[in-house]
Amino acid sequence: MKASRFFVSTLKEAPADAEVASHRLMMRAGMIKKLGTGIYTYMPMGLRVIRKVEAIVREEMNRAGAVEMTMPVVQPAELWQETGRFDKMGPELLRIKDRHDRDFVIQPTSEEVVTDIARQEIRSYKQLPKNFYQIQTKFRDERRPRFGLMRGREFIMKDAYSFDRDLDAAKASYQVMAQAYRNIFDRFGLRYRAVAADSGAIGGDLSEEFQVIAATGEDAIVYCPDSDYAANMEKAEALAPAGPRPAPAKALEKTPTPGKSTCADVAELLGVPLSTTIKSLVLATDVLDEAGDIKGSQVWLLLLRGDHDMNEIKVGKLPGLNQGFRFATLAEIEDHFGCKPGYLGPLNLKKPVKLVADREAAVLADWITGANEVDFHMTGVNWGRDLPEPDLVADIRNVVAGDASPDGKGVLAIERGIEVGHVFVLGTKYSKDMNATYLDEGGKPQFLEMGCYGIGITRLPAAAIEQNHDERGIIWPDAIAPFTVVVCPIGMDRSAEVKAAAEALYEELLAKGVDVLLDDRGERPGAMFADWELIGVPHRVVISDRGLKEGQLEYQNRRDTAATKVPAAGIADFIA
Ligand code: ATP
Ligand code: MG
Ligand code: MG
Ligand code: MG
Repeated sequence: MKASRFFVSTLKEAPADAEVASHRLMMRAGMIKKLGTGIYTYMPMGLRVIRKVEAIVREEMNRAGAVEMTMPVVQPAELWQETGRFDKMGPELLRIKDRHDRDFVIQPTSEEVVTDIARQEIRSYKQLPKNFYQIQTKFRDERRPRFGLMRGREFIMKDAYSFDRDLDAAKASYQVMAQAYRNIFDRFGLRYRAVAADSGAIGGDLSEEFQVIAATGEDAIVYCPDSDYAANMEKAEALAPAGPRPAPAKALEKTPTPGKSTCADVAELLGVPLSTTIKSLVLATDVLDEAGDIKGSQVWLLLLRGDHDMNEIKVGKLPGLNQGFRFATLAEIEDHFGCKPGYLGPLNLKKPVKLVADREAAVLADWITGANEVDFHMTGVNWGRDLPEPDLVADIRNVVAGDASPDGKGVLAIERGIEVGHVFVLGTKYSKDMNATYLDEGGKPQFLEMGCYGIGITRLPAAAIEQNHDERGIIWPDAIAPFTVVVCPIGMDRSAEVKAAAEALYEELLAKGVDVLLDDRGERPGAMFADWELIGVPHRVVISDRGLKEGQLEYQNRRDTAATKVPAAGIADFIA
């Protein structure tokens, strides 16, 4: 590809709503363009990344024996009524009507349609097992679309669905998929963890999430550094032995006295032993209206340490949640912080804690997180004024860093992750609702045992960037870079030698199957380098008259701080 014919469109500044690095950098690198809230055009540069992600996923899915198909994006409501999800699913499901006033949905996922296909097509046990997948547009009307492609409303998902004759066979299919997912995520070159997730009604360890490790991740994951125990927070809490800590959603019996409180006061208030280690804490209060009904809830106090800067940003930037008299619901608070109000995770209550409450302040604007002393400000207790004092409700995490791990092999640590994949045994939920059966050896109809397996195709590049970027821009892993190599000739319009050498190298790399881009736009070196560093192409070759005279070219890996001279004759082999 030649840059003059391709579409390169970089920006100096990111839009103000871009809060995280991946969103900022994808916008600045011209990879995506916003059309509406949570709705983005995949621009040519971004689409190349997405296509590479898809290609890897497709290859490994095919290798694992899954069969590709494409199901409709617009799906008749009748199927969704059969499983009850048309009504149960809530506002995340986008419902539309056609000209005849008939109901449809835009697929957020496709269990209904694939089950409908299976009940028509799968007749005999001889056709099993089967695994159908698609790489397709999804729409979820997310309550809080944000961070660009990370949580879009329209996005691309790879969704696969397995059909088996019994639960053991379904578990085997699940294991094949879980292994395929490990292969896929290994190929992306990202740091990730497969964590046990709650498998809902099915029970057992039949659900895992694949979480890319990143401080900006919305999920809390719990793991043991000394063993292979790893679970998402919900699963970890479900498994945690009832300890000395209070149960979740505990209504506090006392209201703290505004003013100075000590550690002991906080511990007493929360009903936890003074030695409890917490990372941070969000308490919420129910706010009642005049009639005594719950009007909403409100974050009352927040303790955070530096490693939770993400939450600091979020609080600081969410006008309304902590400001004035707009009350957030508990669900909004949970959504906002990515956890239930309560402990987010270490604040050692043995250390001195000073609570400074300012009843008059309308904004929870400032808190200080000291490295050694945990010293925080609490401002913005918003009740008072003309509202009755609310009851305090604290929902307290019962899994925190430092707890013994369930396998007894060490203590737990907590980190944040981005869910990029999810594998799940569904059992017969959908096949029963939709009467999808096959005939067994005895000619008797049996319900199909199902599994489903998702990968966030468009979320993955965002997760990759969260892990791989610097102040200059993106640093793509080779596997998903929009181009693997960029050839940057200097003064191509002035020097026939440079032009010839650049084109020869470009052709040679193309012939070797290298995904190379020749920057023939005639940009000045500074601007040209800045573009490719921002876009994040992992390998760069600079061709200049000076270098050519010495028979040398300059090679620089995106992670290197300086270029290396490489003999011009050997560069193609050096790269390929
Ligand atoms: P989340 O917890 O982030 O809302 P989910 O658990 O609702 O995700 P699944 O139903 O498990 O998502 O869908 C499979 C995969 O699709 C997820 O693992 C994630 O990678 C991706 N995905 C889900 N929602 C979005 C979204 N709004 N934008 C981009 N990718 C998404
Ligand atoms: Mg979701
Ligand atoms: Mg999830
Ligand atoms: Mg999920």
